[in-house]
Amino acid sequence: MSIKKKLPLIFCIIVFIILVANNAFHYIRSKNQLLDYNEKEITMITKEVSVQVENTKKGSEYVENILARELRIASVAIKKALPPRYQDVTNEQLKNLAKELRVSHITLLAKTKDDVVGVRSSDPKEINMGTKGWGYWYDAYLQLFALKPVTVQKGLALPYYWSGPMEKASSNPDHIDKWGYYYDGTTNYIIDPYFRDNTVLGYEDRFGPGKVIKNFTKEPGVLEMSVLNPKSFGKKEEVVHLNGNYYTRISAEPIWYGSYKKYSNIAVDSKLVKKAAETNKTQSYKDTIKDKYIMKTFVPVNTKQDQPYVICLVYDYGLIQNELLHELKVHILLSIVIMILVLIISFIFSRSITKPIGYIVEQVNEIAQGNFGKKLHLSRKDELGLLTENVNALSNHLLHYVNDLNHSKKLIEYQAHHDPLTGLTNRRYFQEHLKPIIDEANEKHETVSVLFIDLDRFKHVNDSFGHTKGDELLKIVANRIQSCLPENNHLITRQGGDEFIILMKNLDVNATTAAAEKIINTLKKPYSIAGTELYLGASCGISMYPKHTRNLDTLIIYADMAMYSAKKMGGNRFIVFNEQITKLSQERPRFESRLRKAIENQKIEVHYQPKMNVQTNTIYGAEALLRWTDEELGFVSPEVFIPIAEDTGLIQPLWELVMKKACQQVSEWNSKFQRSLNISVNFSARQFQEPSNMVKQVKNFLQESKLDSKNFEIEITESILLNNSTEIVQSLQSLQDMGISISIDDFGTGYSSLSYLKNLPINTLKIDKSFIQNISENLANTEIPEAIINMARGLHLDVIAEGVETEYQKEFLVAKNCVQMQGYLFSKPLSHDSFEAFLSKWPC
Ligand code: C2E
Ligand code: MG
Ligand code: MG
Repeated sequence: MSIKKKLPLIFCIIVFIILVANNAFHYIRSKNQLLDYNEKEITMITKEVSVQVENTKKGSEYVENILARELRIASVAIKKALPPRYQDVTNEQLKNLAKELRVSHITLLAKTKDDVVGVRSSDPKEINMGTKGWGYWYDAYLQLFALKPVTVQKGLALPYYWSGPMEKASSNPDHIDKWGYYYDGTTNYIIDPYFRDNTVLGYEDRFGPGKVIKNFTKEPGVLEMSVLNPKSFGKKEEVVHLNGNYYTRISAEPIWYGSYKKYSNIAVDSKLVKKAAETNKTQSYKDTIKDKYIMKTFVPVNTKQDQPYVICLVYDYGLIQNELLHELKVHILLSIVIMILVLIISFIFSRSITKPIGYIVEQVNEIAQGNFGKKLHLSRKDELGLLTENVNALSNHLLHYVNDLNHSKKLIEYQAHHDPLTGLTNRRYFQEHLKPIIDEANEKHETVSVLFIDLDRFKHVNDSFGHTKGDELLKIVANRIQSCLPENNHLITRQGGDEFIILMKNLDVNATTAAAEKIINTLKKPYSIAGTELYLGASCGISMYPKHTRNLDTLIIYADMAMYSAKKMGGNRFIVFNEQITKLSQERPRFESRLRKAIENQKIEVHYQPKMNVQTNTIYGAEALLRWTDEELGFVSPEVFIPIAEDTGLIQPLWELVMKKACQQVSEWNSKFQRSLNISVNFSARQFQEPSNMVKQVKNFLQESKLDSKNFEIEITESILLNNSTEIVQSLQSLQDMGISISIDDFGTGYSSLSYLKNLPINTLKIDKSFIQNISENLANTEIPEAIINMARGLHLDVIAEGVETEYQKEFLVAKNCVQMQGYLFSKPLSHDSFEAFLSKWPC
């Protein structure tokens, strides 16, 4: 749930709880207050009622006394008006007298033997009515007749006179009378005038407690009010039996005043009335009577002289409840209003909090999604303002951090994919990108050429000049390779050490080899390192996708194999992969053993390629070249088996073989044909491993064959000289001293520096056939052969061109003063017999 909803909800719940608690508290308090108030009111009412009752009692006593005095006056008047003997009085006379005196009735009481009897009366019911059983009334009569003062407590006693308390008439209980009794001894009767009913009750009605009670019952909530007599209430009525009448005395009546009727519950009430009177404590209870929820309260009133009584108040308890309910309703209504207000306020409040929070959350989300550096705009001075500032700072930090991270990532990525030395992409990059490049080529039906380049004798540079210089050289090499390639459409990688791989897209074999040649030619140009002019070469293997293979790994292996072949062939060249290379590499062990056998079985022949002097048009010598045609392998080129022989050490027996045969052969030819042919033999680097030994062997071969050392020539490659070993130089020197010529084979492809050549024991420079073959009418690649020729002349060296195939090449060379030549234009390498035949065609 969102804070926006949560806050108002929490507020509402809290306020609701507070309101409910408040309402409950208020309800209970109101209830108690109301009950308290009610109780107080009841106490007040009952107090007032009791006061009223007391007052009216006293009032009625007073009035009763007045009435008693009135009756005495009337009695005196009656005595005067009547004869002293009742026998002389008529009832009629009494009636008239009563009327005249405005009393209700007049009765005359006479004393009999043991009674006081009504003898004459205006009320017939009073006549002959005995009074013996009337208690204190009778006592009062006897005292009056005895002319004694009446000692009865009740009523009013005056001289010769006593007035009885207001009471129900014994002669007729339907009436309430106030009597006066007068006897002064002048008559034989007691004069008894009395007021009846209206006179008595009218007063009671006007001044008695009944009226007060009536007034109180008009008060709201007061349903009934009555004054109860605890002595008789709820008990069996105490009935008086007199003069044939049954009745209850006023003082014995259970309900003195009020209207105990509608909500009567005598069983319960009588107990509480009794308890209230006994304990003098207010009692109350609640009940539903006549569908009304009422509360009855019984308040005892103990008058000192008089009989105690209990005021019973029936209160409409429903009113209290209604009041409470009303109050509760008002409170609930108020609570609802407060709740709505709280809801609105809390909603506004929560909005004022959640709106900026929502804004912050939204913005932080954006930041979390990578929009670092995003700035929040919230100008507040509270915690949210602080939070905004912090978020802004965080966002800013993140931006910097991510920028740094990206920078580092790029750097790491760059470092992971680039060679730190040359800045070229590295092996990892190559491995990752080879497949996509090939896939793309595949899709576009394009080719991919792989050039595997390895520097020739780079180890020597490292060993001689140190790794720092070696590194410098590698940088130059990398730059040179790059300069040979078009800007796009290729990928150059340094695989490690002095190995480079170049991928070129959509080039055919010719374009690829042209590029390879360009690279090789560029790389063989001199390098200036630490003030020294250095010469390096490179071997390059080429494989083509999809021509050679569709397998990526194989594609690279093929380029590597081709490079290896190039290296074996003396380096400084490229070789396009061909089946023979695989075959060779696969069948290398077989080749080896076949070669070994061929040497053992003398199956290797020596062919001779004539060396011509085109100026004199003569054969002046020959180059001994090995030929091997195996029974199983067929013809195997020396370019294939010489590297194997060099690797396996078989080059030594081969060398011995060629030395022996060639020297003997040429020696034979020279003596047979009276010639002075010069024979040149190719020496491998292996021959210079033990130079002094080799010199000895050469001497022996020459001696054995009786070949003049002047007719013997050694062909070595520049790489042998580059070893720069004094031993080698010395051995060459001693050979030269013997009259042997030293020729640098494949000159131009290697690394020779001019200064270098100058100090070496060299006789001839043999221009490499690749330069000669480049000489054509269309192409103008003549600088190198021309330079070599000039250089040789400058160094006073002989110069010979190999691989001369065309007349144009020959003419060119002649024009440049290079007259010694070797090539298919004159002859291919020939067998012993063929050479003899060829020799016979040419003059010495
Ligand atoms: P190389 O010493 O430079 O020999 C010249 C190669 O060029 C020979 O190849 C020869 O047949 C070839 N050649 C001559 N004229 C022409 C021409 O006009 N056009 C073309 N395309 N080629 C021409 P071959 O005999 O296959 O020998 C290849 C290489 O094998 C030699 O190159 C040499 O380095 C090595 N080799 C041959 N015999 C021996 C040997 O007895 N000992 C040593 N160490 N190496 C040998
Ligand atoms: Mg040679
Ligand atoms: Mg050569």
